[in-house]
Amino acid sequence: MINLYQYKVTWCPVCNQGWVEIAKDVNSKRLFLLCEECESEWDEPNNIKNSTSTRDKYGLIEVPLLEEIRKKKWDQYIVKDPHMYNAKIFDISGLSKDKNWDKYAENWGIGNKPTESHMITCEMNGILLKARGENQKKWKSPLIGKTIKVTNYFVSIGDIYKTDVLINGILQIENNVYSVIGEVTKIDNNGINFILDCGSIVTAAKRYSGLKNIKKGDRIVMDPGEFYISNVELETD
Ligand SMILES: [Zn+2]
Repeated sequence: MINLYQYKVTWCPVCNQGWVEIAKDVNSKRLFLLCEECESEWDEPNNIKNSTSTRDKYGLIEVPLLEEIRKKKWDQYIVKDPHMYNAKIFDISGLSKDKNWDKYAENWGIGNKPTESHMITCEMNGILLKARGENQKKWKSPLIGKTIKVTNYFVSIGDIYKTDVLINGILQIENNVYSVIGEVTKIDNNGINFILDCGSIVTAAKRYSGLKNIKKGDRIVMDPGEFYISNVELETD
């Protein structure tokens, strides 16, 4: 699986579990739409329905260049991320070499221990953060000192519960692990993916646990959540 997350177009009508994203077929060089969760495919972004999906029509995929997407005028369909920020990169370190990682995984129930991953220290919207850098190939030391565009999201690794507390914010517990409090401004039908306004930053979020129903407008605490950022500016080589 590769990360197509930056070119998402709509929520998948087939599986209701993931985003439909713009992908490129390696052999034919054709652009098409793909849900990485259920592998449903579509030829056109303006006709994404349950009944129009195909399977295995396309083969090996790669991330298309923004130029290629623009040429087809498909950039108009890309969902604009409210959780996209400029981040100044201070440090990039190998998370897998971090001897704290095993302790993390155990303490916070982080199941998917990365074989190669990076811990990114950056400043985003005036706050200093540590995050796991998604897509490890995109994090190289020449980025240190530069300001790049990133998207950010939390993955709930504990509980999510409603709160009446009126403050928004994120509290660092340990490196890339935070307690998050904010307002849900958008949520998918399944209640798994949502947008959370934490005051200082707006973030996407995904939950695997915390089964109490939440809806748009609710104020919630995610305790704790693992923080990820994705470099959306520089192409992978
Ligand atoms: Zn799907």
